[in-house]
This record gives sequence, C-alpha cells and structure tokens, in this order.
Amino acid sequence: MPDEIKTFTHADWLDLGRARFGENFDDWRFVCPICGNVASIGEFRRFKEQGATPESAASECIGRYLPKSHKAFGTDEPNTPKKPCNYAGYGLLRLSPWRVAFPDGTERHSFAFGE
Ligand SMILES: [Zn+2]
Repeated sequence: MPDEIKTFTHADWLDLGRARFGENFDDWRFVCPICGNVASIGEFRRFKEQGATPESAASECIGRYLPKSHKAFGTDEPNTPKKPCNYAGYGLLRLSPWRVAFPDGTERHSFAFGE
C-alpha cells in the first residue's frame, strides 16, 4: 500500500525519470503498489496486441497481460497476492502513490519509479 501520496508536475516527473533511468523510455521501471513487482516500459511491448501501451507500465501490473493460468491477485488467496498481480491504477481501487499534473489541468495516477 502506498505510504505517501506525492504530486509532480509532468515536467518534474520527466526530469526525475530521466535522471534515474536515462532517455530511453523502455528502461524506465515502475513498482506495482499492490504486489511490489517492478516492470519496465520495454517489458510491456510484447503485450501490445493485448492492449498494452508504453503508459501501461505506470498504471498496470504486468500480471494483467500474463496467461489466465497465471494466478493473479484476487483469484484465490486474497491475503497473499501473487506477484506480478493484475492490479490497474485506474480501476475502483486507486492506490497508485503518485499524481502527475499535466499543463492542461488533468492529473494522472502513476506507480512510483522502481529500482
Ligand atoms: Zn502487482
């Protein structure tokens, strides 16, 4: 669970990501707030045909794109979420720890950057 909500401007969020991961977005990593799995933007590319986008890494746990046989969060043992799980930060439970404020006034929830 997120311990602290942080809000960034989009520009500051980009600066922070570049400082940590460099210019190649595929290298940017995000940590799922539910199961703690860390996945890079690049890892989502192979799931493009299933609807994954480069933005998926900041708001979806990669378990959403794994085969149904993968036992994910909520499917059997609720107290021991499988990792990676199938959490999405835009669903009913909005638990992403970061908020990114865009110049047009909109705000998106984002997973925190991973290690
Ligand atoms: Zn997860």
